[in-house]
Order: sequence, then structure tokens, then C-alpha cells
Amino acid sequence: MDKSNVTIKPDRPVTSKKYLANCCMKNPNHQMFKVTDGARCVECNGLVNVKEVTMDEHYSLPTYTELHKSRNEKPSKSLSISVDMNTDKMQLKLRAIEKHVGALADELDAIDNTEPCDRCGCIKTETHTLYSSKTTYETMRCSECGLKISEEEFPNRLEGSD
Ligand SMILES: [Zn+2]
Ligand SMILES: [Zn+2]
Repeated sequence: MDKSNVTIKPDRPVTSKKYLANCCMKNPNHQMFKVTDGARCVECNGLVNVKEVTMDEHYSLPTYTELHKSRNEKPSKSLSISVDMNTDKMQLKLRAIEKHVGALADELDAIDNTEPCDRCGCIKTETHTLYSSKTTYETMRCSECGLKISEEEFPNRLEGSD
């Protein structure tokens, strides 16, 4: 079986491969890329020519899709911070703070002013509020033995008479 006479016929004629690139017709300095059907210059969206390049050049060229992708990934969003300086709300907040700080100060004052119970020496107190038609009675009693420490009377304020 001598195979030396068998000639191998290539399917296609062997031609040297051509390396093609697209380059901008308007400005040759615009980025070239590997040839793509229907492509436009990625920098000015202008028409492109097909140009033959060397294999090395072609190898270093980006593809059309790569270029588009990298352009879309460029940070183009501008950072905007909107500061809502609503002075009406700010005033309400300040008033709320004032109110709570005031209440806290009153409570701390009350603790400072609390005398130990005459009967048992305890300083824990309970305030009992009793409402009558015209007057509110606030009675402070020792929470241990129930001794009355103080009693205050407030005239009831009619609603809307502020
Ligand atoms: Zn261009
Ligand atoms: Zn007591």
C-alpha cells in the first residue's frame, strides 16, 4: 500500500488571510476597530472605511462591541445631592426637641426636689391625678407607704380657650 501518490486537495484555495479594520472617514485619528458590518465610528458616529491592516495591528485592535461596551461603562453620571432644607420642618423639629428637653428638665427637677418620705424615708413617689368637673387634683404620695407628700390643684382649662 503506497500512499505517496495520493495528493491532498485542499477544500478551498489557500490565500493569505486579509486583516481588515474599520476606520473613521472623517478623522483618521479616531479609534479603529476590527471590521464589522454596518459599523460607524464610535467617536463621532461617522461613516467608516475598510482598511487593510497587518496581523499584529489587527490583533491589538478592539472589536466594535468591546468599544461600545467600554464607552457605556465610562462613569458619566454626575453625582447630585439634594439637600432638603425645609425650614418649616426644621422649626417643628426644634420645637419637638425643646418640648422634650423641657419635660425632661422638669422631671429631673422633680427628682431633685423630692424629699424622703417623713414616715419611711423612701424617695419613690407616685402621682395620682383626680379629675373633677372644674379642677384637676394631682396628689403625690410615697409609693412605699402611701403617705401624702403634696397635693396640687389645677383649674381645668376649657378646650379652645388657649
Ligand atoms: Zn470618527
Ligand atoms: Zn413612705
